[in-house]
Amino acid sequence: MAIPRSKVFSQSSLQDYLDCHYRFELGHVRAVRCPSPEAEPLAEWEERARRGNAFHWMAQQMVAGVPVDVLEPTDDEELSAWWARFKRDGMRGLPPNRFSEVTLSTALGGVRLVAKLDLLAVEPGGRVVIVDYKTHKKQTPKTLKGRIQTRVYRYVVAVAGAAFTDGATITPDQIEMRYWFAADARPSVTLDYSQAEFEADEAYLSGLISQILAQETFPKTDDLQRCAFCTFRSLCERGQRAGAVDEQEDEGLAMLADSGDIEAFEF
Ligand code: SF4
Repeated sequence: MAIPRSKVFSQSSLQDYLDCHYRFELGHVRAVRCPSPEAEPLAEWEERARRGNAFHWMAQQMVAGVPVDVLEPTDDEELSAWWARFKRDGMRGLPPNRFSEVTLSTALGGVRLVAKLDLLAVEPGGRVVIVDYKTHKKQTPKTLKGRIQTRVYRYVVAVAGAAFTDGATITPDQIEMRYWFAADARPSVTLDYSQAEFEADEAYLSGLISQILAQETFPKTDDLQRCAFCTFRSLCERGQRAGAVDEQEDEGLAMLADSGDIEAFEF
């Protein structure tokens, strides 16, 4: 199945391709939607997704200037704890010019590559900090550094971030990516960037996009662990029951969709 060159690629579509080529085809080429939950128990999974979305919305509103006391959650102890932590150190040390829910894109490999950022904080002529809020369990700096999200976000900001610096060029060594964990009192994880990493990301991402565009069939993964948290598992006959919510590695598709994933830009 040929992928149209008009297709927009994102960190989530590339991650799906890396996890399972067939998941990429179903979700991003054929736009199949399956109602299966990603994890169980269902009520807990839905509650986590709702709380994560509420947190992202509150953080966005605060950056937009809404007074924090207006945003204070009243009936959710866990969300209140996240919010208290966010007010204490969620913005600590960030450059003064802050933009939430920023969408940037650039041309790469003959297609568009899009990054949707929770927050971009900019110091004119100085640091450029990409912030991503995580409401799931904390991951190690090594894992985060290898994430396709990290590679896409830092690369796209290096190429297209000048839209937020009054046109001043951004060099990779000005860029930091900060993962801030709502449910973990330990410090956030900050990853620097360099010219060498930028060049490596450009080669890797363009190679990955070329590989996808050249691919005619998209086989199912052999790694059954990938299927446990996949909404297509019934369709693929890879099991009826979802994996345990506590073992899910990331916020998952429900969070991405509800927090404004860039699927709407595709095609
Ligand atoms: S259930 Fe498994 S094989 Fe099917 S799309 Fe999902 S990850 Fe791929």
